[in-house]
Amino acid sequence: MVRATPAIEAIPPMTPFIGPEQLMREGGHSSILRLGANESAFGPSPKAVRAMGAELPRLSWYGDPESYDLRETLASRLKCTIDNISVGSGIDDLMGLAVRAFIGPGGIALTTRGTYPTFAFHVTGYGGALSTIGYREDGHIDVDGLISKAKKHKPAIIYIANPDNPSGTIASRDQIERLLDATPKETLLLLDEAYAEFAPAASFMPDVIDERLLRVRTFSKAYGMAGARIGYSVSSARVAATFNKIRLHYGVNRNAQIGALAALADADFVAEVVSEVDHGRRDYYALATALGRKYLESFTNFVCIDYGSAEVANAVVKALLERGVFIRKPFAPPLDGHIRVSVGMAAERAAFAEALRSVKLP
Ligand SMILES: *Cc1c(COP(=O)(O)O)cnc(C)c1O
Repeated sequence: MVRATPAIEAIPPMTPFIGPEQLMREGGHSSILRLGANESAFGPSPKAVRAMGAELPRLSWYGDPESYDLRETLASRLKCTIDNISVGSGIDDLMGLAVRAFIGPGGIALTTRGTYPTFAFHVTGYGGALSTIGYREDGHIDVDGLISKAKKHKPAIIYIANPDNPSGTIASRDQIERLLDATPKETLLLLDEAYAEFAPAASFMPDVIDERLLRVRTFSKAYGMAGARIGYSVSSARVAATFNKIRLHYGVNRNAQIGALAALADADFVAEVVSEVDHGRRDYYALATALGRKYLESFTNFVCIDYGSAEVANAVVKALLERGVFIRKPFAPPLDGHIRVSVGMAAERAAFAEALRSVKLP
């Protein structure tokens, strides 16, 4: 019999992410309010759309396998060199490279239980082992817990999303600096900063280059280009050169490279999105408060609202889907009693509020 690797044979059949399209097919919905995947409701920069549109006739060409122009622009902004930047088809792709390069079969990855799941999927698929530590009761990443576990287990990679998904919380600059200080010299600290634009710049550690540090960012969230699939990492030149050995050299969409460059040049647009999202988060806080619910203060483009138990939160997600509203919820305690809703446009937020108010709790 043809067999996959032992690591892959051991994974049960599953569909990790059920997308809104599948939910529509299953529920017989002809349209759905997409507030479940933290996509940007505000779209890409019109300048990026124009630049991509103008280049569409050249889709017969491969993109530049070095993503040179984009890496050069990023390097000059981040005050590092082009050798410190890798471009991939989104953070998900870059995390796969990191796991494949640095976690061999049986290698250990340390992360937060219930955080953004793609990292763990890569670890399992490449035969690594996961060591996890739960969120604190207040929904924050347990940085001290990670530090003490890292000292004991010397994992190949420590992964955190900061700001975090699904909680929306942020670990402070001071905490991240302590975590990096405590990271063993044989360990890579992988900071997933998919939502960096939505938090104040002062909350982040500067872009230092350290052999132990790999930061990944994306054009999928604040830049509104999730469907284009493009993101980048900032790391030591040695880590970037390692990625170069194994990455797909034509894996990045040419049109996405062009769109990303144009998007970077449109700072006003991103600033507007961030301000709209801030507005939207406040709307959701007010809605939660009006419904007598607690919420987690968010540094992302989504908000978690507390429904007290996984049973009730699941029922809310299900009832909303019946009303044509797609949201998700965290799956691991202590956050599994929350629902997670992405910030939509004002009219979408109002439609969400109306649907949520109409849900009868079990
Ligand atoms: C959305 C998201 C990603 C996915 O990023 P892509 O660049 O689209 O692959 C990665 N990490 C976190 C925490 C996210 O929420």
